Amino acid sequence: MTKVAFFPGDGIGPEITDAALAVVEAAGAAIEWVRLPGGDDARKAHGTPMPDETLLAFVDIGLGFKGPFAVAMEDPLIVPQWRRDPGSGRRPRTYNSATNALRGEAGGFAAVRVAKAFPGVPAAGPGMDAVIVREISEDIYIANEYTTQNGAAVALKVITREGSDRVCRFAFEFARRHARQKVAVAHKANVLKQTDGLFLRTARRIAAEYPDIEFEEIYIDAACARLVERPTSFDVAVMPNQYGDIMSDLASAVAGSVGIGGGATFGRRAHLFEPVHGTAPDIAGKGVANPVSQILSAALLLRHIGDTAKGEAIEKAVADALLDPRNHPPDLKGRATTRGVTEAIIEALPRYL
Ligand code: NAD
Repeated sequence: MTKVAFFPGDGIGPEITDAALAVVEAAGAAIEWVRLPGGDDARKAHGTPMPDETLLAFVDIGLGFKGPFAVAMEDPLIVPQWRRDPGSGRRPRTYNSATNALRGEAGGFAAVRVAKAFPGVPAAGPGMDAVIVREISEDIYIANEYTTQNGAAVALKVITREGSDRVCRFAFEFARRHARQKVAVAHKANVLKQTDGLFLRTARRIAAEYPDIEFEEIYIDAACARLVERPTSFDVAVMPNQYGDIMSDLASAVAGSVGIGGGATFGRRAHLFEPVHGTAPDIAGKGVANPVSQILSAALLLRHIGDTAKGEAIEKAVADALLDPRNHPPDLKGRATTRGVTEAIIEALPRYL
């Protein structure tokens, strides 16, 4: 039995995590789900969407599976108490959302988003099957900004050798583990010779250690254009934080919908598997949310823990179910319910196990 911290999440979270757990169970995976307070339920019971005890338990378990969490404007910053060290002079760590607290405490450094177009689902990029690996601990999103005396606003872009090494190595290892052929590094090192230059030079050095995987360098602007013009030309693509933020949304849209892409955050202390979308409050409780992104995130989890055959079977069963437009929920212009899609996936599963 592999222990996994579990958070149903808010909004459509409980509906789609129910669906994902049912699919994982039908696949026969040996997982012990450890339900932890987080999101709306914790806000009611503990006055914070992310209690300290939850963060500690999650990091201790090392693996998490979550639905989306709502972010309430009135939520105070999340400040893990055990990290307070008043004598040190350091500012305490703070997080602006429950999700970011989990990712931060996990030591998250790589966000993975799978952008796969499924036959039968209308998409701008039919046949596409790309994985965007985004560095998530540095770059311009460290949000170190200031305004100069004459009113210029400045933001620091920080790229380190360690951060680049970690995420690039992760991308190649991910490619190997998932039987993928190619890793592309997207950058702008022709302009940003120090920061993106360091990222690119690191990617080149690591690529040399993986002669079995093809390596490609591409400017981020050209990568965006090529993603739209020739979406099937991408396999795994790794890039600094800001480029990855933009490119992963673009890739999801070209592949058809944010509702059908699995996602995960990999960290130094723990890994978190979660769909790429939010709580969809407009359709919560109506039983029509698309559970596929949550289900494919569970498949990524199974692959990660070495249950590759079951993870692959779930992916194939999803593809099989989506071939039939009767299994398309409203976000894919169909009329299927969450339960209907889930049942179709479970029915297809035995063919691939
Ligand atoms: P959203 O992703 O929840 O919704 C955007 C649109 O996509 C909505 O029309 C919604 O109905 C639709 N949609 C999203 N997922 C869907 C699914 N599985 N099936 C069918 N339709 C789906 O984004 P938002 O409206 O900007 O955010 C709503 C809440 O979610 C906010 O509180 C936000 O902070 C939170 N959020 C959480 C996470 C996370 O926990 N990782 C990520 C993004 C947003």
